[in-house]
Parts: sequence; structure tokens; C-alpha cells
Amino acid sequence: MEPNRLVRARNRMSELGVDVCLLSVGADLPYLIGYEAMPLERLTMLVVPREGDPTLVVPRLEASRVEHDPGLFRLVAWEETEDPVALVAGLMGSPDVVAIGDHTWARFLIELQAHLPGVRWRKAGGVIAALRAVKSLPEIKALARASAAADRVAGALQAGEIPLVGRTEAEVSAEIGRRLIAEGHRKVNFAIVAAGPNAASPHHEAGERVIEHGQVVLCDFGGTMPDGYCSDITRCVHVGDPPADFVDLYAVLQAAQAVAVGAATAGTAASEVDAVARRLIADAGYGEWFIHRIGHGIGLDAHEDPYLVEGNDEPLLAGQVFSIEPGIYVPGRFGARIEDIVVATQDGSRSLNAVSHDLVVLEG
Ligand code: ZN
Ligand code: ZN
Ligand code: ZN
Repeated sequence: MEPNRLVRARNRMSELGVDVCLLSVGADLPYLIGYEAMPLERLTMLVVPREGDPTLVVPRLEASRVEHDPGLFRLVAWEETEDPVALVAGLMGSPDVVAIGDHTWARFLIELQAHLPGVRWRKAGGVIAALRAVKSLPEIKALARASAAADRVAGALQAGEIPLVGRTEAEVSAEIGRRLIAEGHRKVNFAIVAAGPNAASPHHEAGERVIEHGQVVLCDFGGTMPDGYCSDITRCVHVGDPPADFVDLYAVLQAAQAVAVGAATAGTAASEVDAVARRLIADAGYGEWFIHRIGHGIGLDAHEDPYLVEGNDEPLLAGQVFSIEPGIYVPGRFGARIEDIVVATQDGSRSLNAVSHDLVVLEG
């Protein structure tokens, strides 16, 4: 763990006038102290005061999982019969402004509010998310390894090594999941497989539809590597020759994806990256069918800041890593999406995914 992350978090707390930051389940804890809390009903909470030592409060039965670095934080284990919320409240002094992790169970916030009347509450996302969004060199390398692992699975799909016709979407999804693990992921986060008209639903859940000759098969999958960093990629293959109108749609999509990757340099507004692709897709007559933002940040979470969407006019920063994933979805017919993970740099952008963006036509 880079110990200066806690220092940077506290600097940011000072800037924002936050007296105490409370972090629970989710990726903020692994980011700051290298410990990931199980998403239990029992409270785990890192109490970070603007000054003084941070304290990690964990249920006794979890304490043995904590790799405790006493130079970084104090460790307090609570017994099964103790009230951990009272314990946390007692560690905080009398703060005016408290930021609480976005993924904390609501019941703990409600209980804390009862203990701490008069406190003004903020989302800890405002403190931590901006730090997490800009990746260090080791983090970019970790994300590159995750993308390379996902690329090997996408490459197998494009090479026709994953049988499609006659299998259900669910069977193909399961195979993609097995391959993600075989290529080095610790867990599979999702493996969307959407065939034919199902490809018009961006988050279609792979089901019992049997894949047929003559269909597009959209595959969007990703997982988490042992070091915690995530992959996320989308590629489409077509079984048999695609109809002309699908070829046309795909060509527009591919151009839009490329133009957005090219635009995603440090200094460009996040919204502008979305807009350049959206304009191109709209000019080609497909505007009503591009129904989601163009991308999301990725790191220890599969979706995190920055979000590349209309309304987010924040400039991209060098070291931010995010997806570029335009899609065109024609209800009842077909759909396509192309997704890469991209790093913004000072003088350009770099895709961490290297497999072909072409519409690969498979026989079989
Ligand atoms: Zn998605
Ligand atoms: Zn995806
Ligand atoms: Zn994505």
C-alpha cells in the first residue's frame, strides 16, 4: 500500500472542511489501507480524523484477516455483544462535518446520526473518489494486466475457439467466466452474452436463448484480478454473414468508438468525449439508439469515477483510466457495443485493450 494515500486523503479532507471520514465496505478501504471488509451486516469502519491516528474498527471474528500496519492505523476489534456504532461515535470527538463512505449500509448511517446530532454529513466519495480516479504507474500496470487477461478471452472468442451456435447464451457466458479465471482473474464480475435481438438490451442477462446462425453475439465481460484491479471489455462477433444494415451500423459504431478514444486526452472535458461519439452516431441516423453514457472509470471497482457523460464537464486528468463503450441498439432486431479500457495521458490516450475492433464473422 502506498502510505501517502492516507496523507492525500487527509489533505483533501482539509480542503473540503471535513473533520472525520468514515469508510466501510467497498474499495475505499483496500485503496487506503490494503484491507477489504467482507460485506457483512456486522460493522467494519475506518475512522479517519483530519488529525490523529486513523482507527480500523472490525468485528472480533474478522480481526485475524487484517494485515495490521501499526504505522498506518490503530486496530480495534469489537466483541459480539458490544455496540460498534457507539464505539465508532466515541472515537470521533465532536466533529462538525463527517464524510461517510458511499457504500456504507444505510442502517449504520441512521444509527450514527442518532449518536451524533448536529453533525453535517457528506458523501466520502467527494473525498476519496477523486484520489482513486487518478491512477499511479503501478495501478496503470495492474489495469493493463487485467485488460490483457480479458483480451486473451476476447481473442479466443474472435478466433472461434468458443463454440456459439447451438449453445445457450448462459452456456457461453459460463465458458467466458471460466476462461477469465483461467487467464488470471480472481473472480468474474459479469459475462453478458446477448444474441440476435437480445443484443439490443445493453445489460441483457445471458439466458436460455439458443444462439443461431445469422446472429450477432455481443459479449461484455470482466473480472477482478488477485491484486484487486478490474477488467471490462465488449466485443461483438457475427455468426455467418451479417446483413448489410448491421454492417452499416457496426461501421458507424466502430468509427465513433475510435474517435472517442482519440478525444480522451488529459484536458478534454469528460462530456466532450461522449459528445464526439454521439454526434457521429447521430449524424449517421442512429442517435436515438445510443441510450447510455460513453464510459465509466475503472480501478478497484468495475465502475467508479470519472463518468464520461453529458453534464460532467470536468476535464480528464492524466492517469485517469476509464471505459470507452458506445453502443447502438435497435429494439427487436440487433445491437452492438465496442468497449476498451483507456488511459488518458498528457499528449493523447492509450487503449489497454489490443484485440481487434472489427466485426469478426465466424462460420459455424
Ligand atoms: Zn454496462
Ligand atoms: Zn463492459
Ligand atoms: Zn464498462
